[in-house]
Parts: sequence; C-alpha cells; structure tokens
Amino acid sequence: MKFPELQNYIAGTFSSNGNARIDVTSPLDGSIISTMPLSTKSDLDAAVEAAQKAFTDWSKTTIKDRVQVFYRYKTLLEQNLEELATIVRDENGKTMGEATAEVSKSIELTEFACSLPQLVQGEILEVSKGVECRLERKPVGVVASIAPFNFPHMVPHWTLPNAIALGNCIILKPSELVPISARRIAEMLKEAGLPDGVFNIVNGSRETVEAICDHPGIQAVSFVGSTKVAKIVYQRATSNLKRCTALGGAKNHLIVLPDANAEMTAKDAAASMSGCAGQRCMASSAMVGVGEVDHIIEKLCTEARKIKPGENLGSVISKVAKERIERYITEAEQAGAKILVDGRNATVPGKENGFYVGPTVIDYVTPDMAIAKEEVFGPVLSIMRADTLDKAIAIENSSNYGNAAGIYTESGGLARAFMERASAGMIGVNIGVPVPREPFSFGGWNESRFGVSDITGKSSIEFWTQLKKTTTKWNPEAGINWMS
Ligand code: NAD
Repeated sequence: MKFPELQNYIAGTFSSNGNARIDVTSPLDGSIISTMPLSTKSDLDAAVEAAQKAFTDWSKTTIKDRVQVFYRYKTLLEQNLEELATIVRDENGKTMGEATAEVSKSIELTEFACSLPQLVQGEILEVSKGVECRLERKPVGVVASIAPFNFPHMVPHWTLPNAIALGNCIILKPSELVPISARRIAEMLKEAGLPDGVFNIVNGSRETVEAICDHPGIQAVSFVGSTKVAKIVYQRATSNLKRCTALGGAKNHLIVLPDANAEMTAKDAAASMSGCAGQRCMASSAMVGVGEVDHIIEKLCTEARKIKPGENLGSVISKVAKERIERYITEAEQAGAKILVDGRNATVPGKENGFYVGPTVIDYVTPDMAIAKEEVFGPVLSIMRADTLDKAIAIENSSNYGNAAGIYTESGGLARAFMERASAGMIGVNIGVPVPREPFSFGGWNESRFGVSDITGKSSIEFWTQLKKTTTKWNPEAGINWMS
C-alpha cells in the first residue's frame, strides 16, 4: 500500500486498537492505498478525556503564545506543500494543481488564525462611579470537527486553527473516504509545538459522528457535508444541548445576461463547473441564460471540450459517484434536455479502474428536472433559459439551497439588483467561484447552512468562544493611599 495503515491520534500518540478496518481507495486508479479504523465509542471517550485534560493548561495559555504554534505550523505547511498536495491528489483524485491550491488555502486559513490576537481583545467601561464592566472572550471547551471528502486538507483548516488558537481542544473526524491528510496534520501540529491532547483524530463513519453528537463531554460540533447529513447532525447535536454549525450541500446558479463579456463568462463558467471534478460546494452547476446568449454558450462548449479527464480534470470520488452523475445526465436527456458536451463513459488510458466523468454541458434543462434542483456533484453544467432577469432570479430563489449565486453582466445596475435579491450567502459578480477570502467568512443560507455563525473568518470567533462579563467595584474612600 502506498500509505501506512492509519490510526487514531489521541493524546499525542497514534494508537493501534482492535477495531474493524476499512480500505481507503484512490479514485485516480481504483487502487487500495491505506486502511482506516472504524472507531468505537470507547475510542471517542479516550479522545474526549485527552482533550479535557489538555484543556486545563491550553485554555490558560495566552492567545499570543497559542498562535506561536501556528506561525511555526504555517512554515511547515509551506515547506511540505508538495508532499501534502500529493496526498490530497492521491486520496481525493484532484489534479496536482488543484491539490496544491487546496493546501495553499490551508496556509491562508492558518495565517488568519495567527491574526486572532488582533481581533479578540475585550472591552471595558466604567458604567457608574467606581464600577467597571469588562467583557472577555473565553474558549468553549472540547469541540469537534466533522469533515467531508471533497477537501481533505482545507476543510479541517476551516476549523482547527481558529478553534485551537482561541483556546479550545478539538477532535477531528475526517471523511472515511479521504482520511490520510489528517495524519500529516497531526504530525505537523506536534512538530510545531502543539501540546498533546489539544488536537485529536478519531476515524470512523456514521456511528462515530453519532457518538460525537451524543457525547456529554463535547461542547460544540462543526460539520461540513451533504444537506441530508447536516440536518441529522444539527438536530442531534443541538438536541443534546451543544452549539452546532452544520454546512450542507449546494446548487449554485450563474445568471448570464446577453451583455456579459463572452470570453470571460465562457472560461469562468467552464472552470467553475468542472474544477475539482465539480465536487465543490461552490461550483456553479446551474446556469440561467437570459435572452439571447447562444454566442456565450457556444464559447463555453469550446472551453469545456478543452478539459480532458486524467489531464486537466481529476476523477470523481467513487464508482457510486460516477454512476450517480451519469444517471442524472441520462435522465435529463430522456426528459428532453439537449446534451451539448457529453462526459459519460470517460476512461483514462492506464487508469481504467479510476472513476472519471468528462465535462458535460446540457442545454434546455427545465427547472422541474431533478438535475436542475438536486446537487449532482460532478463536472456537469445544466443550462436553463429565461426571457427576463426577474424570471432568472425567481429560478435561483426557488432553490432549497443557498450557498452561492453569481451573475455575469457589464451592467452595474442589473448586477446590483441581483446582489440584492439572490437568496444565497456568497454572491459573485463576474466571478465563477465567489469564495470569500480571509478575513471574510464562509457560509451559505437556507439548506446550505444550519446554525447561526459562518465557519471561517471573523464570524467563526463567535462560534469558538463564549463571552465572560465581569463587573467590579472598588471603594475610592478606602482611605489607603500608597501613591504619596
Ligand atoms: P457526507 O454528508 O456524506 O459526509 C460528511 C461527513 O458525515 C463524513 O465525515 C461522514 O463520515 C459523515 N456521515 C455520512 N453519513 C452520515 C450519517 N448518516 N450520519 C452521520 N454522519 C454521517 O458528505 P460528503 O459526501 O463527504 O461530502 C460532499 C458534500 O459536502 C456535498 O453535499 C457538498 O456540497 C458538501 N460540502 C459543503 C460545503 C459547504 O461549505 N457548504 C463544503 C464542502 C462540502
């Protein structure tokens, strides 16, 4: 096997246990590259206990000292960028360029954590003579982060650096499809000087997530994954009286007006729908062409045809995913949509056991089709048509999701109207993948996010801390004067 067998990481030690194990498969060629333990409740108990023990000292360390770990960790990420990107490529199936961009984003997230001392200072006010109110941010305690398969390195960095720098101790549950990156995260945090027990890994799948939601020793749960599971996790964690932010799936609309810059729109739309093989919650998977936009769609198809599986397009995560994506395409075709670029039955020479879907562009999709409403999570763009911007916005607004939405136009007024009326948390104007960069926060609306705060940036500070308000009174007439 290409990678060592994986273990849980508890109290600074990779520990073997007698658990059942599952294979980890590289979607690039279908080979088994590692195995992973399915944790039991007692493994989680051990991780919570280690985190609770570490919390006593870690929460007392000053934030200026805590972030020193992340300055050192950031240097380690930079020094090991290529190795880390190779792991992401092998376990997830991305291209090397996409995997490198993913780890680079982890570096940016770590940089933000280093800036936290500048953002979390408290407040103080003399509220009546001799009486002061003071407000400080304190960590929440032992927290958990549950991750999806599509960004094995970056999504853990949405939570770990901020949660830890703000004084919490954390348990990571990586996706069972891509658990290898987490091992190097643990090794590098230790090398950067993070005390044992502050960061722990408990591998597993559904049962482990349920145990996290139920565990009385865990105060907060951060989840990223599909809407179906986000709902389960949010309901279960909050019913156990934990705070929870649960990010779900997406169906992101890109509205294209006839005055849009054709070249830029075509390139951006093709890249947005196919980047990371369409397995991004920020991918634009639905386009709404307003009026006469055939010239733009023609260029878009030309761009899509330049994207080749195994060259500048990675694999999708599994055989099940490939079959699901191809089924959506076939059902749309049967329902009367027109396939302009067809990525079904793609294979890559020498990697016949890999899971590849070529770029796919489908025109004349109607809003009632499953492919228009549901998350396909593959390199597929469904194009709908509308004769006015109002009708295009109505299509966007009718989605259950609300992660991102974008518009391509040269008109500031129409873009402004769209910005105002789109029902999504992250809006793009002439941007194909409108991910807010730090210090702005990441998070959607509607069924793309449950809970109050976003997952990154300044908004995450609320999630990872609680406010302590202290009122003090000192008697000025005490008669003791040491000053003179
Ligand atoms: P998933 O929901 O299947 O799995 C996510 C996590 O939940 C994994 O760790 C998995 O082990 C666990 N899990 C799976 N089924 C469970 C169940 N029934 N009960 C409890 N836990 C369970 O998601 P995925 O397929 O790994 O990731 C892709 C999804 O994540 C897509 O829907 C994508 O849009 C979404 N995503 C959203 C964002 C965002 O920011 N909104 C970011 C990345 C990915």
